[in-house]
Amino acid sequence: MYQNDIREVSEEQLIQFFSTIGEKPFRIKQLNSWLWEKNVHGFDLMQNLPKTLIEKLKKQFTFLVSRIGQEVTSQDGTVKFIFRLHDNHLIEGVLIPSGKRVTACISSQVGCKLGCKFCATGSMGFTRNLRAWEIIDQYALMNQRSNELFDQNITNIVMMGMGEPLDNYEQVMKAINILTSPQGNALSPSRITLSTVGLVDQIRQLADVQFKPSLAVSLHVANNEKRSQLMPANKKNPTHQLQSALRYYHKQTNQRITIEYVLINGINDSLADAEELAQFCRAFPVKINLIQFNSTHPPYQKSTPENTQRFIQYLESKNMVVNLRRSRGEDIAAACGQLVKKKAEGGRRKAEI
Ligand code: SAH
Ligand code: SF4
Repeated sequence: MYQNDIREVSEEQLIQFFSTIGEKPFRIKQLNSWLWEKNVHGFDLMQNLPKTLIEKLKKQFTFLVSRIGQEVTSQDGTVKFIFRLHDNHLIEGVLIPSGKRVTACISSQVGCKLGCKFCATGSMGFTRNLRAWEIIDQYALMNQRSNELFDQNITNIVMMGMGEPLDNYEQVMKAINILTSPQGNALSPSRITLSTVGLVDQIRQLADVQFKPSLAVSLHVANNEKRSQLMPANKKNPTHQLQSALRYYHKQTNQRITIEYVLINGINDSLADAEELAQFCRAFPVKINLIQFNSTHPPYQKSTPENTQRFIQYLESKNMVVNLRRSRGEDIAAACGQLVKKKAEGGRRKAEI
């Protein structure tokens, strides 16, 4: 369906095509700049290309794009987007303004195969992987909105939307390469965070390629049996193997790893859970992000303030770096997959553009 798309063709194919139609090679550079640097969504917008070339490109290639299907603003300023892909599938992205930063949360798949029990995306099942340009489209569309809404570019990207990035390894890496390339969006890798459920083989692969962005691991429970119950992906990626992959990752990249831990009432917020988490993290330097559970996913509830405090105090007593992240955009279902799920269930639309 997308094989003949302008953003799928290889550099070699382009060189071949341009030579067949008798166009100069420098036109390829101009074309690539429109596609990957300026992120335009149509051949007609490529102002420095001759009309005749534009017509030939249109005849030869498709130009598939994603569009903003819905935009919802939270009371706290978080803006959630539903993107409609070229084949009408829906994915989500979120813009989170905070001081001088605007963080964009982007998706890597339509749905997810991994079925974590507390996750709205997990309960939807898997539809398909995103192509690299569909990942980049989310950035480009939200960056435009970020400028319109907040008068500034996106400063940070987190791959924490729908899907498991490392289950779409090749296209996610391609997208990150383009986002960080000087010929692309030239973002600093340190401003990008990839969040994974903890796929062991792919974490080792990232270590071997000296992955430059930050790595965040959604641990949520350190106890192996409990984790397998809550997160089925743990059965093939047990915690001792995950721990050794993360140790290897640190050895190869020298990076500190972010551990994400969503506190769910009575499930993973006891003192024993905190002890097991501290044990897990002893093998490499970490920063722990404790995240308030976004409770719109029954039967799970957010941890009580008392349990949350006890959890933090224990980790701090072990000299661990701990941040408590309050859940942003709760009123607009901003946690992973919640808005698309709501829409599929006939949720009320607040804004359609
Ligand atoms: N698949 C990847 C990235 C997408 S999920 C991963 O699992 O890391 C991004 C984060 O949102 C994960 O840490 C996930 O556990 C968390 N999440 C899912 N449902 C949530 C909810 N209802 N409340 C808070 N965080 C949630
Ligand atoms: Fe997939 Fe991540 Fe949701 Fe788990 S938390 S189901 S891995 S998107």
